[in-house]
Amino acid sequence: MPFPMKVCVICSEEFELLPDKPGFANRCPACSEPDAEDAPKSLSSGNAEQDSARRKAIRDMLYTKDS
Ligand SMILES: [Zn+2]
Repeated sequence: MPFPMKVCVICSEEFELLPDKPGFANRCPACSEPDAEDAPKSLSSGNAEQDSARRKAIRDMLYTKDS
């Protein structure tokens, strides 16, 4: 079964959207590499430890707001 072809929003190259492709679904693998400038837009930095720390910080923030 062929994978759907997508056009990367960054470099406009076509790429196959693999089911286990890391990063953004609308970016080719090359443009899905962790990019410091794009990090604030997404919770997924490719660094699991960093992600979990960030999620915990956000959770703590939400709980603080609610209570
Ligand atoms: Zn690209």
